[in-house]
Parts: sequence; structure tokens; C-alpha cells
Amino acid sequence: MHVTTRIMEKNKHIALVAHDNCKTQLLRWVNEHKDKLASHTLYATGTTGHMIGRESGLDVNCLLSGPMGGDQQLGALISEGKIDMMIFFWDPLNAVPHDPDVKALLRISAVWNIPVATNRASANFMISSPMLDEEVEIEIPDYNGYLTERLG
Ligand code: PGA
Repeated sequence: MHVTTRIMEKNKHIALVAHDNCKTQLLRWVNEHKDKLASHTLYATGTTGHMIGRESGLDVNCLLSGPMGGDQQLGALISEGKIDMMIFFWDPLNAVPHDPDVKALLRISAVWNIPVATNRASANFMISSPMLDEEVEIEIPDYNGYLTERLG
């Protein structure tokens, strides 16, 4: 796969998602980092996003609830280069009905090379990175090159 690059602006588009058993933990984390998060653009799956908005007062672009298609909406935004990083507290101890969507979301995040934090420790590392408030160039798949190669 050929690669190209894209620029992440200083203002990052950050996706926030938590499975039900992890929502309290994500809400606590958001409150701890509210000031930093406030200077970025936030997206979230439906329930997570409404809870964050209600409890922190932060503006959140709410997608559909995860099991109702929200994970897939997020995956589409990631594929279009509209999400720069994701904090996704998925539940490692319980099954969820939309497991295929969860896998797809994690997979597409890897394809488009966005930073993903899946627990508190990784989220803390990510939010403390100096790159959070800087313009950053990341490598992404060269889609035009990919298509040209396939079309021959
Ligand atoms: P929710 O979805 O924020 O609507 O609960 C989260 C998820 O399971 O992806």
C-alpha cells in the first residue's frame, strides 16, 4: 500500500465513545481534562455524547447511539479524514450486541492511522502529548494510488 500524508490541524476532531460499563470512567476522565478538551471539536456516539454534554457542559457533536449505527457513522467519518483521534473505552469483560461494528471501528482506525486510546492510561498519555495542540502530519493510505493500482 502506498502512503501519502494529511495534516491534522491544531484544533483536533476528537471522538469519544464508551461502552455502558465504561461510561462512568469516561465521564470522569472527560471532567478531569475538560479544559484541554474544550479547545477541540468533540464527536461521540449518542448516549456517550449526551451524557458528556449534560455532565461537563462541553459541546459534543452527537452521532447515533453505537448499537443503532453510531459506530459505523464514526467509522465513515474516520475514513473521510474528519476524525483525528479517538478515545474508545470498549468493554473487555462483557459482550455487546454490536461487536462487529466495534471491530470495524477499531479496524478502520488502524487503516487510517489515527491515534486510539482504549483505556484511561493510554488516554492520559494522548491528552498530555504536545502534539495535541500542534499541527501534525500523519501518514495515511494513498487512496488514489490504491485505486490506480487496482484499475491497472
Ligand atoms: P453509546 O454507544 O454512546 O450510544 O452508548 C457506544 C457504543 O457502544 O459504541
